[in-house]
Amino acid sequence: MANFESPVRLRLDSDALVSNWRTLAKMSQSASTGAAVKAGGYGLGAREVVQRLSQAGCRDFFVAHWAEAAVIADIVPPSQISVLNGITSSDIAPAIDLGAVPVLNTPDQIANWRAAGGGLCHVMIDSGINRMGLGPEQISTDLLRDLDIDILMSHLASADEDVPQNGRQLGIFRDAASSIKARRRSLANSAGITLGRDYHFDLTRPGIGLYGGIARSELQHSIRQVAFPSARVLQMRQLRTGDRVGYNATFICPHDMKVATLSIGYADGYLRAFSSVGHVVVNGLKLPVIGRVSMDLLLVDASLAADLHEGDWVDIDYDLSCASQLTGLSQYELLTGLGNRFDLYWS
Ligand SMILES: *Cc1c(COP(=O)(O)O)cnc(C)c1O
Repeated sequence: MANFESPVRLRLDSDALVSNWRTLAKMSQSASTGAAVKAGGYGLGAREVVQRLSQAGCRDFFVAHWAEAAVIADIVPPSQISVLNGITSSDIAPAIDLGAVPVLNTPDQIANWRAAGGGLCHVMIDSGINRMGLGPEQISTDLLRDLDIDILMSHLASADEDVPQNGRQLGIFRDAASSIKARRRSLANSAGITLGRDYHFDLTRPGIGLYGGIARSELQHSIRQVAFPSARVLQMRQLRTGDRVGYNATFICPHDMKVATLSIGYADGYLRAFSSVGHVVVNGLKLPVIGRVSMDLLLVDASLAADLHEGDWVDIDYDLSCASQLTGLSQYELLTGLGNRFDLYWS
C-alpha cells in the first residue's frame, strides 16, 4: 500500500513524559513510583511510553486488559505488569503463560486463581469507590489464605478534591492492610500523590500526570504537556460579512474575514465540544475555532495570520487543563479520545 503522510500529526515529547514521571516520583518521597499505561498509555502509545519510563527506572506498569499486557510484555519483564481489571477463567491459562500479574478483585477471581495454581498476584480492596475490588465486608483470612500477594491496593474516588472521602478511604485501606499479608501496599493515583506521605505507602500509581494532565492545582507548575496535535491547512478563503460558516451556520461572519479549513475533526478526537471555543496557534497567535467542528474538518478565523497558506501545519491548542475547562471534557477523555488517524512522532 502506498505510504501517505497523514494530514494530522501528534508530536509526543519524551523529555516531558520522563520529567513528569520523575516529578511524581520525587513527590512520592520514599515510595516507589509506577505508571498506569492502560488504554495504550492513555492513547499515546503503550510501547513507546513503557520503553521511556522503564529506561528512567519505572518498574511497575498497570494496564486494564490482558491484551494490553501482551502488547508490552517483550519490553519489560512480565512480572512488572499488573492487569487491573482482574481475570476470567478463560484468561487464566494464557495469563499464566504470559507471566503478567492479575489484580484479583472478587472472591471468584481469587478462587479461580488459587485453583489454577496461579502464584504471585495482587489484590484490590474497594475502600469506597464501589467500583472494583473486595469490599471490606468480603475480606476474611479464609478467603485470602495462602495467597502470595505482591501488591495490596485500593483506589481513591475523589483525590482531585479536598473532601472527607479521602481520609475515610485511607482509614479503610489501612485497616484492611493491617490484617492482610502482602509484600507491598499502594493507594495513590496522580492526584493522591499530592495528598501527602500518608497516602504513599510503598508504591504510587500515577497515570494522567505522566501524560501532562493536571490532576490538582499543586501539579500545575511542575507537570509538562506531552501531547501536541497539529493539522494541515487544506483551504484558505476570504469570507464576507454575513457569510454562514459550518454545519447549521452556528457562526455568521461579523465582518470580512480570512478563514482556514484544517484537516482535523471529531473523528480524530477533536470533539464538537470545541466548536466556537477552541483555538489553534500559528506563530504564537491564537486563532479561534469558528462554527461547528466537523468529522474531518475544522474552521478557524485566520484573519490575524497573514502568512498562513494552504499546506501549512497549524498547532492545535491542547493544553489539557485549559481544554478541559473550555469544553467540559475531562483531561482523561481529551487524551484517550485521540483517534487513530494521527501520525505519531516522539521527539
Ligand atoms: C487509572 C488508574 C490509576 C491512574 O490514575 P490517574 O488518575 O490517571 O493518575 C491508578 N490506579 C488505578 C486502579 C487506575 O485504574
